[in-house]
Amino acid sequence: MILDFVFESDSYENRELAVSVRKFAEANLGEVGFDRAHFSRMGELGLTGMSLDERYGGSAMESLSIASALFEISRIQLGPTIYLSVHLMVAKIIQQYGADENADLLHEMAAGRALGAFCLTEAQAGSDAYALRTRAEKSGNSWTINGEKIYITSAGLADAYVVFARTSDDKKNGITAFLLRKDHPGMSFGPHEKKMGAEGSPIATVTFENCKVDDSARLGEVGGGYKIALSGLNRGRVSIGAAACGLASRSIEIARAHLAERTQFGQALADFQGLRFMLADMATQLYASILLTRDAAQRLDSGGKQNWPSSMAKFFASDAAMKITTDGVQLLGGAGYLADYTAERLMRDAKMLQIVEGANQIQRLIVARALFDELA
Ligand SMILES: Cc1cc2nc3c(=O)[nH]c(=O)nc-3n(C[C@H](O)[C@H](O)[C@H](O)COP(=O)(O)OP(=O)(O)OC[C@H]3O[C@@H](n4cnc5c(N)ncnc54)[C@H](O)[C@@H]3O)c2cc1C
Repeated sequence: MILDFVFESDSYENRELAVSVRKFAEANLGEVGFDRAHFSRMGELGLTGMSLDERYGGSAMESLSIASALFEISRIQLGPTIYLSVHLMVAKIIQQYGADENADLLHEMAAGRALGAFCLTEAQAGSDAYALRTRAEKSGNSWTINGEKIYITSAGLADAYVVFARTSDDKKNGITAFLLRKDHPGMSFGPHEKKMGAEGSPIATVTFENCKVDDSARLGEVGGGYKIALSGLNRGRVSIGAAACGLASRSIEIARAHLAERTQFGQALADFQGLRFMLADMATQLYASILLTRDAAQRLDSGGKQNWPSSMAKFFASDAAMKITTDGVQLLGGAGYLADYTAERLMRDAKMLQIVEGANQIQRLIVARALFDELA
């Protein structure tokens, strides 16, 4: 029970969902590497439409259920967890800000036939997203976009790209969101980057060269883009918390099995108190991460506008996952360092979660800001 995201007191539907996603992930997602068939299969299971309303073919699931599904996928493989979580965030943005023009696309996204990507980061605009320089210039009823995005999850593989571009020099209110489809003239992709982990979730640059889009491609108000990005990221951070819990839970499972099996000095490793205490610390860190992530998910649905609960869950759970997976390698000794035992892959994957969707220092800034705002 300590290692599970779903509690016995949760709804029957939620527990059923977790069981079916666990079965799917264990049977299909063992291999690292991107496979489009996995995304299609997730579509058949209803996972790709979890964040969409029923009228677009989705299931409008509670954030807690979405988090529990992402936990189960991440327990087996981080890559699909990441591209699915970005996809769900992008689908939700399109539904919220451009549903009328894009109902067909939303149905395709819900069915797992169209994958979403989120294009915010640029070379000089990472944590400081306001510094983005990709520009959209208006002429008549259309916009011309020029610029380059980096580190974009699913770039080149995705079918729908939510792109944030500068439409005026006003720092806060000068960013606008647009929706572009794959194969749009003027949009091109770099090769997939070689990275430390999350191998099933490729990233690449996206370049816009005199890329013309109709005004109907705009999502939300002119100048309203930053708010859209932040609301998406607030959800995305809960997903990252759930992903962190999933891989940390797997790390503990592997370590526990190893301690029970392996004998040194004439006794099971599990009988050395120092090692038992390490495992108890790992389980407690995980349990605290699960509680924070569940709470943040529930707050998303109860209309809470604060962003600190998502930030707390994101940084606490991913820092805990880094510590848990590092100790997970240590508890396996030499075997922990070998690829065959999975522990080292979980440690490499955990590192990503401390960086993406706003690095953990930025999450702490958000929590600290909330503390000072409350005092003011
Ligand atoms: C695998 C992967 C997938 C990604 N997918 C996407 C995607 O789909 N879409 C997208 O738009 N982006 C994506 N990103 C980008 C990601 O969101 C950024 O890398 C992240 O926000 C950090 O920005 P940066 O890399 O420019 O680091 P920087 O902003 O340069 O930060 C470097 C370090 O300085 C710290 N720092 C920066 N500012 C402060 C401050 N004010 N106070 C204290 N510390 C600070 C940071 O926390 C970090 O530790 C992805 C990145 C990776 C690695």
